[in-house]
Amino acid sequence: MAAVKKEKILVIEDEADILEVMEYNLTREGFKVVAARDGEEGLEKAKKEAPDLVLLDLMLPTIDGLEVCRQLKGDAVTRSIPVIMVTAKGEESDIVLGLGIGADDYIAKPFSPKELVARVKAVLRRGPLKEDRGGSERIVRGGLVVDAGRHEVLVDDKAVVFTATEFRLLHFLARHPGRVFTRDHLLSRVIGEDAFVIDRNIDVHVRALRRKLGPYRDLIETIRGVGYRFKYENE
Ligand code: CA
Repeated sequence: MAAVKKEKILVIEDEADILEVMEYNLTREGFKVVAARDGEEGLEKAKKEAPDLVLLDLMLPTIDGLEVCRQLKGDAVTRSIPVIMVTAKGEESDIVLGLGIGADDYIAKPFSPKELVARVKAVLRRGPLKEDRGGSERIVRGGLVVDAGRHEVLVDDKAVVFTATEFRLLHFLARHPGRVFTRDHLLSRVIGEDAFVIDRNIDVHVRALRRKLGPYRDLIETIRGVGYRFKYENE
């Protein structure tokens, strides 16, 4: 039987004990782990080692995490490598900045090993952001059906009327489960240049969405200080 190629995770983290916990748990899950102790080393290894994913602490010596992320996402060689920011309490504004410059997700300290592994696997599995091509995709979650082809939402088999903006917002969130989006991102991706949308406040649209989703309202989660996400299937 051919050996399965181990996916490689680059961990950029200056705190030895956190690094150790990450290395231990990721290795046990079958990942190959490469470590870097500061931002500069992290950037070097991201190019040299071609990892499948980067776990990036934000508070780092030499080059801080946000700058590392900016450089990774600005370089053709490393741009497509998913980045999970590792953040401390109170870094919500940095999380928003990081997501804005292309980070794929974040995990807040302190985290459990189970949570770490689950997020790494989820990000590896979901791949890059999907462009909206107005396809005929049908998303089913329990009794909630979001049917892009028919432009229809069913809540427990009952058709519910959504405005065009609400539908786009729900569809966009639902096809990227587990992914956190900032308000700015949702505003530009969902509402964009649409001059007919009078209310450009995302929170207003989310409130309306939740009301109409009834028993499924909790599928749209508020991430305090950051934005919104559609609940991941296994959470
Ligand atoms: Ca640190």
